[in-house]
Amino acid sequence: MSEVRILKNYINGEWVESKSLEAIEVYNPATKEVIAKVPLSTKEELNDAAAVAENAFHEWKNVAVPKRARILFKFQQLLLENKEELAKIITIENGKSLNEALGEVQRGIENVEFAAGAPSLMMGDSLSSIATDVEGTNYRYPVGVVGGITPFNFPMMVPCWMFPMAIATGNTFIMKPSEKTPLLVEKLVELLEASGLPNGVFNVINGAHDVVNGILENEHIKAISFVGSKPVGEYVFKKGTDNLKRVQALTGAKNHTIVLNDAKLDLTVREIISAAFGSAGERCMAAAVITVQEGIYDEFIQKLQSESGNIKMGNGLDDGVFLGPVIREENKARTIQYIEEGEREGATVLLDGRNSSSDDGYFVGPTIFEDVKTDMKIWQDEIFAPVLSIVKVKDLKEGIKVANQSEFANGACLFTDSASSVRYFRENIDAGMLGINLGVPAPMAIFPFSGWKSSFFGSLHANGKDGVEFYTRKKVVTARYLEPEFSQEG
Ligand code: NAD
Repeated sequence: MSEVRILKNYINGEWVESKSLEAIEVYNPATKEVIAKVPLSTKEELNDAAAVAENAFHEWKNVAVPKRARILFKFQQLLLENKEELAKIITIENGKSLNEALGEVQRGIENVEFAAGAPSLMMGDSLSSIATDVEGTNYRYPVGVVGGITPFNFPMMVPCWMFPMAIATGNTFIMKPSEKTPLLVEKLVELLEASGLPNGVFNVINGAHDVVNGILENEHIKAISFVGSKPVGEYVFKKGTDNLKRVQALTGAKNHTIVLNDAKLDLTVREIISAAFGSAGERCMAAAVITVQEGIYDEFIQKLQSESGNIKMGNGLDDGVFLGPVIREENKARTIQYIEEGEREGATVLLDGRNSSSDDGYFVGPTIFEDVKTDMKIWQDEIFAPVLSIVKVKDLKEGIKVANQSEFANGACLFTDSASSVRYFRENIDAGMLGINLGVPAPMAIFPFSGWKSSFFGSLHANGKDGVEFYTRKKVVTARYLEPEFSQEG
């Protein structure tokens, strides 16, 4: 048997071994095979990387913005050329199907394309006359070293919400990938190097809590982008802001979908199955609760139940597989505990994922509950697995009232043919990302990823103009220009 390799850190353009004596296993969740070991790097290693990034910042911030953008154009081209390989790495370390992984790579590339627009995105504004002979001009500058902390469920897309815009706007970056999916970033580094990114601009420190705490405390790190669960995001936001850093923390979710009597049934069921069970439900935009109006309820349930029963589960690399494993054994055990809890709380199991679960990998089949009430744990908690709860309501108003009781407010969807219902939904639902007749309302890179309530801590979201604002600070120049003196003859 060949020895499992231990991943390295990437500092100042070099892959270096961690000095830590601790390393944890990285698994292929579809086979339980150990595919690598990830070092639990120390705070000292993080601090060394931050000092390197701080040094690099002083040169990188002075590289002309169009020149920085050109590196990203090259990077985008290389990402496109390596799309299949990137997707395969994602499937192997995360478990999602190759199709889903290709979709993720595409979304990541769109972030790079957006960031390559830095020359126009960084443009400031000016007013030629704010008083007699006085004008005002607003310029944008990078903030310094940025730390990025990412979750396991999107090893490519989520880092791409952060570093392309951060470096395009002139910052340097330290990435702390999820210790469960740390492989993809190696390929990103290879392609960044091939794009001509100078040493020290993008650095990677592998690890877990200690590295995160190091990022929160380090004096050179001025801004932190976090994506992950609610308890960790809340901690990162509080501690990071206590240490006077700017922090954006995109956190957990429990997304609600409302299906009205006038919804198109085939489209609705197809979209909901994909949104609930795609990526094994391990998406912050997954459909978790479906609130269905009385008139369409029976027909909807029948179709949802029968089509969900046909889902092909297996290794995401195999043809036709739709549902891959959850990320780890403990996630599978936790999912099964939630299914048991749902039964104990009095919900009815329409489709039981325990029956189709398999021990070849961390597989749990699709699960559907009906008769779910808002005081049940399966309604309240983010389960982050292929478990769907159904609630019956009499109308849209009741559906919105149910959804708005959630502590989370990331995405919400409505299936209907009625424009007035769409407007009522938009005006009254508590959620930052809305979908109409579609299941996963993840905004494109040009818009902010704008969760509300406990789904987000901070004020500027990732992506869109918010992303540009987050990674830049402003200098406003107020200047008096006196009339030039001219010779009498002129
Ligand atoms: P997680 O919170 O366990 O981990 C996220 C990051 O925080 C990892 O890099 C991890 O090493 C670090 N971390 C974990 N525990 C820590 C601790 N106690 N102290 C310091 N650092 C710690 O999240 P996860 O399980 O990797 O990802 C799933 C979660 O991410 C879900 O809640 C999901 O909704 C959320 N998510 C949110 C969005 C969004 O845009 N809102 C997007 C993707 C994922």
